Amino acid sequence: MNTGQAPAGGRTQAVAAEAGPRPGHSGAGGSPAGGAALAVTAIAGGVGAARMLSGIASVVGQRSMTAVVNTGDDTVLHGLHVCPDLDTVTYMMAGVSNLETGWGLAGETWGVMEALAAFDAVAGRSLAWFRLGDKDLATHLYRTGRLAAGATLSQVTSDIATRFGVEARLLPMSDQRVETRVTLASGEVGFQEYFVGLGHAVPVKAVRFAGSEVARPAPGVLQAIERADIVVICPSNPVVSIGPVLAVPGVAEAIVRRRGATVAVSPIIAGKALKGPADRMLAELGYEPSAAGVAEMWAPYAAAIVVDNADAGLAPRIEALGVRCVVAPSVMSGPAEAAKLAEAALGAAP
Ligand code: GDP
Ligand code: CA
Repeated sequence: MNTGQAPAGGRTQAVAAEAGPRPGHSGAGGSPAGGAALAVTAIAGGVGAARMLSGIASVVGQRSMTAVVNTGDDTVLHGLHVCPDLDTVTYMMAGVSNLETGWGLAGETWGVMEALAAFDAVAGRSLAWFRLGDKDLATHLYRTGRLAAGATLSQVTSDIATRFGVEARLLPMSDQRVETRVTLASGEVGFQEYFVGLGHAVPVKAVRFAGSEVARPAPGVLQAIERADIVVICPSNPVVSIGPVLAVPGVAEAIVRRRGATVAVSPIIAGKALKGPADRMLAELGYEPSAAGVAEMWAPYAAAIVVDNADAGLAPRIEALGVRCVVAPSVMSGPAEAAKLAEAALGAAP
């Protein structure tokens, strides 16, 4: 990962989060009509980010938000271009996501997957290992058709957001293909083969982002970071959700330049990921699997971090890194909790 030099400075006082954004900046409570709403740019992966983004939306309103979303997980299945993190964020912002799984659409049916599985015997392998619901498939069909006709991923992402009534600006990190590849004891595999195929139950030796060297940030990405009032690094897997975004040339540097306006939210609570392999992956790759380990990773990028109440004891260590540590309840079990966490995060910006 690109880490960079941690600029000196940062606030050095641990503060308990006071609910509520900074006075005079937002205070809009979901209806930014009237005063200018805070412009927020979020660096986002999938589920953890989608929850955070919906919380931020309820504070500043979707129209003043931009999400720069990981596409390192993207994969081609049955010839279809699937963007798991973009779709998770789009469906959540549209209020149509499956809240139990965190991915896919609510009220989904699985007729195509059932029919596809009937081909397993002739194919000699399981074809429906990556579940694509019937309605979700329409998104992948549309995306694949448009890409084949020459549209960029940015254009298609914008169309899909519009079709679902999303008002936040959703940007892929790049229009070029950047592929997260994972080295296991058995060799290197694509990200979805590790994550879904193997159920992320095997140790990871290394991660790389193939194609990142020659990728360019998608149109609007650097400007969104430059012009935001606050940049939020979402509570997503630091290695495989935020890592690919930072690997796109120019993005890490742009965030470092905005360090003073950047707040991270830890996806690790009491040493554990709420979901997925982030805790194990951090340890396997030599990072400390704790909110302090996350703070160390983000210290070059963010002047503040929000950690859970359970990690209040880590605040002195985090502050010693030159990162302002805000302690707040950070489990987004529903919209109200997500909104409160968003208030804490936006209020943490120095
Ligand atoms: P994925 O791409 O769908 O795997 O999603 P992300 O990388 O965006 O999110 C996975 C991470 O989100 C995990 O490390 C979780 O611990 C974290 N996460 C999920 N829900 C929450 C939450 O409510 N609060 C916090 N702090 N982290 C969360
Ligand atoms: Ca993902």
